[in-house]
Amino acid sequence: MAERRKAENVLLDTALQEFYGAADEMGLSEKLISILSHAERRLEVSVPTEMDDGSVKVFKGYRVQHSTALGPAKGGLRYDPAVDIDECEALSMLMTWKCSLAGIPYGGGKGGICCDPLEMSKKEKERMTRTFAARIAPIIGSWTDVPAPDMNTGGPEMVWILDTISKMHGQLEPGILTGKPISYWGSKGRNEATGRGVATCGLEFMKALGKDPAKMTASIQGFGNVGSYTAKTLQENGVKVVGISDITGSYYSEKGIDIEKAFEVKDKDPKKLLNGFEKVGNCEKVDEVLFTKCDFLFPCARDGVINKDTAGKVLAKYVVEGANGPTTPEGDKIMADAGVKLVPDFLANSGGVIGSYFEWAQNLQGFFWTADEYNTRLIHIMKDNFKRVWDYAEAKKVTMRRAATMAAIQRVADVVELRGLFL
Ligand code: GLU
Repeated sequence: MAERRKAENVLLDTALQEFYGAADEMGLSEKLISILSHAERRLEVSVPTEMDDGSVKVFKGYRVQHSTALGPAKGGLRYDPAVDIDECEALSMLMTWKCSLAGIPYGGGKGGICCDPLEMSKKEKERMTRTFAARIAPIIGSWTDVPAPDMNTGGPEMVWILDTISKMHGQLEPGILTGKPISYWGSKGRNEATGRGVATCGLEFMKALGKDPAKMTASIQGFGNVGSYTAKTLQENGVKVVGISDITGSYYSEKGIDIEKAFEVKDKDPKKLLNGFEKVGNCEKVDEVLFTKCDFLFPCARDGVINKDTAGKVLAKYVVEGANGPTTPEGDKIMADAGVKLVPDFLANSGGVIGSYFEWAQNLQGFFWTADEYNTRLIHIMKDNFKRVWDYAEAKKVTMRRAATMAAIQRVADVVELRGLFL
């Protein structure tokens, strides 16, 4: 039997054990198991940055490419104090399965910088980002590795990276990353794509369960890019959003929360937080939103929040994972034993990378689509993918996470077999 890796990093260990479990269940060859349980490339760079007070801080930056079997590595760059190389490897593996399941021509990558962006000025972030871009530039490109936004990064960071690498290459390279602002080679619809996709999965989930969205309640953890547009799209489709949250706290109202108003409050705040949003109900603590009385829970903040300590307190009967890795294996088991059904992250939040694929395709062609074209295609693919995983899970009597992982691994494995060992 091939060596089975164990990792100290919880997220990496979770990704590996889920991979081994699914691979064994589908009878994947030991050769493929050992290939796919290792990342192709793990790059660490130092990022010396001049701070506003004149001092220099050296941050650590990373880019991991788990697989390029299906196409260029694809995945976001995150800025967060918890970022390290193993976390990036775990998330890059998740991206491999996400792109594979979504049916788009990409492998998986992920990267980021270990830093606290909320404590940094815009200028500090720009200097850090440009140095980081220059140092990962050798492995980035439209046909090699295509980054995108992730936790705490967005349009500005993408523009700094694109501008830096384009200047290094002496020509504009719009297809080297996605998630750019619409005004600069971005795509109408990309900003909302992840949340819209998460909500679409939630609505399809309701339909598959025979439930009327107009009679359903939902709570959403996180009001960043993913959570906010998930909440907005759910509300637009008749679901009553009773709980939202961000690092300023949880907000709950049995009568339903005005999501438009929450957007207004967030947009006014310099840190884009729900600072000063009217507290309704008795739900003050940040995590409290996970335990609210609702039918559907959408964890859209960070990894590991539904774990051995919290899973038993979740009252929702259905969970749709908007964040990457929000549920630990122990959390998964506790919820499964309690009969909670769950749509896994790499299916639920794949709208982001599917939208990225649309942006990349438009960039390579130099031809832009309308917002309508973008959204119609996105929703069509999300519905199709949900149905495929739902049907597979029902037929094989496995969880949706297992069904999705198996289907995703199969596509990558087939191409590795086809291309042979020299990848
Ligand atoms: N960061 C997003 C994710 O985790 C988007 C990645 C991309 O568009 O490449 O799926």
